[in-house]
Amino acid sequence: MSKEDLECSFCGRKKAETNLLIAGLDAHICDRCIEQAHGIVMEEALHSTNTELTKDMMLKKPKAIKEFLDDYIIGQDHTKKVMSVAVYNHYKRLLQPKSDDDIEIQKSNIVIVGQTGTGKTLMAKTIARMLNVPLAIVDATVLTEAGYVGEDVESILTRLLQAADYNLDKAQNGIVFIDEIDKIARKSDNPSITRDVSGEGVQQALLKLLEGTVVNVPPKGGRKHPDQKFIEVNTENILFIAGGAFDGIERHISKRLNMQAVGFSASKNENTLERDHLLRYIIPKDLKDFGLIPEIIGRLPVLAYMNPLDKGTLRAILTEPKNAIIKQYQKLFEMDEVDFIITEEALDFIVSQAIEYKLGARGLRSLCEAVLTDAMYELPGGEDRKLHVTKEYAEEKLNKSTIKKLKAVS
Ligand code: ADP
Repeated sequence: MSKEDLECSFCGRKKAETNLLIAGLDAHICDRCIEQAHGIVMEEALHSTNTELTKDMMLKKPKAIKEFLDDYIIGQDHTKKVMSVAVYNHYKRLLQPKSDDDIEIQKSNIVIVGQTGTGKTLMAKTIARMLNVPLAIVDATVLTEAGYVGEDVESILTRLLQAADYNLDKAQNGIVFIDEIDKIARKSDNPSITRDVSGEGVQQALLKLLEGTVVNVPPKGGRKHPDQKFIEVNTENILFIAGGAFDGIERHISKRLNMQAVGFSASKNENTLERDHLLRYIIPKDLKDFGLIPEIIGRLPVLAYMNPLDKGTLRAILTEPKNAIIKQYQKLFEMDEVDFIITEEALDFIVSQAIEYKLGARGLRSLCEAVLTDAMYELPGGEDRKLHVTKEYAEEKLNKSTIKKLKAVS
């Protein structure tokens, strides 16, 4: 058969009529048929059911969930316990057989209060990793009510679908982490007549999602693709975790506790101590006083808090979690057959710098980068197979790096 006589084995088009004809063992397929087949595959993925998913989830009891969290998250014991129970109950709710009694288990969506960098996102990520379910992380500040500039709340579900590779069943059992929920608080306690576009309206829009409803979701998100087919996503089994720093909430707590408000006379140190101390007394009413509407609070029934990270915790974060930063560098150097040793003093020094520059846990990584970049550049492929990082070495590298400039800013 001559080249020109070749045809697509699926649609019968001649080679000349196609843009591309790909040869298989004893068949050919054209570009159009490939596209069509791809569409079918995507459609199938969307509707395939994954019964193993929920079975898997049921295996883990709260204690086992907490143990898993312990491997990745340092400290925050109380919150880990609260989260373990909430997650367990959530999946128990999914698996409950339909029964005649009228007891319907409520969704255990979670709200976590804690300063930035204390591990709220990490908590959500770790739970998603453990359950092997898709996770979407969204920022509440970009959300707006439908019709305003910004993203509609449905975009949250677009992200979740993307995280689930468009497997609808997986997405419907996934987790959504809504960061900076405190930024959509009502600006004043007074429910005003003029609508508060950025705050209350978004809270209202979120209500239905949190509770469980069927939403028409544009799979590609946004308004840029007006002709896309909507996908119906049921949010009933999606676990929502909201997080926020809620700066200043301690004033509401202390007021409630009938204590003198902090932040006016107290020195900076005492102030943070007070804050640690106060967050553990947080109750839903404080969130309401901060500006979340009661309906939202009702749909986030599990309230947890994160402690600020002290020196000991920061030090542990460097080396202890399963994928601790230092372990990652060790692995990187190992791949180049470089023996990497870092002294206790050097690690303490990095922690002290993170505290001094007020960089928190997030800063640990950039500090390590600053210390190790030269070595990671020089050593691979060279003669030297040993890297010994002492405090002096770390100090010298940090002094040279731009990270020093942060000090001037803070
Ligand atoms: P948040 O969401 O509260 O702002 P993140 O979860 O993004 O904070 O945490 C910032 C960084 O600090 C992450 O890289 C995370 O790995 C690390 N981190 C924060 N708290 C802990 C912790 N308790 N244990 C281990 N790592 C932590």
